[in-house]
Amino acid sequence: MKQWRMWWGAAPTEGVANTAFGDLSRSTPLVLHAAIVKTLRLESQRKSPNETGGVLVGYVDGDGRTVVTAVVGPGPNAVHSRSRFRRDGDYAQAEVDRLHHESKGRDDYVGEWHSHPDAGGPSLIDRGSMSWISDNPHYARREPVLLIMERVRTRAWHPRAYRWVAGRLVEL
Ligand SMILES: [Zn+2]
Repeated sequence: MKQWRMWWGAAPTEGVANTAFGDLSRSTPLVLHAAIVKTLRLESQRKSPNETGGVLVGYVDGDGRTVVTAVVGPGPNAVHSRSRFRRDGDYAQAEVDRLHHESKGRDDYVGEWHSHPDAGGPSLIDRGSMSWISDNPHYARREPVLLIMERVRTRAWHPRAYRWVAGRLVEL
């Protein structure tokens, strides 16, 4: 995991059905604890109306579920705007390395997250970035998770989770 240059953009594409947060941990292979969602909400609100984001760290358990254990924020050199975001790659790398070490090798990069202050599902740029990550051997994640914090009202942020599978985003 050494290449960290992708951009995220919020240009809306075709509509994607909403997933309630409660469904994520019960019926899909992604485990997202409430404390993690709270952190994502706070980070998203802090940078609003600009986008923000970072990476998700965790592990795959014995049942094949991806368990998110930590959120890495944008970092000091991230670029934020109303419809674009680029995280600080050096910061993300250092944080993932630290969390990997602290978990004695259990936790590693599992995917990406960013906010959509103006709502809307994954953009074409988002899809392109996920495709690029999937194909990049440095990430070692063929099916990375993409979590979008979507603001549907002034202060209501809802997580929508996707996974890049076989060349497309599948909502979880
Ligand atoms: Zn986006």
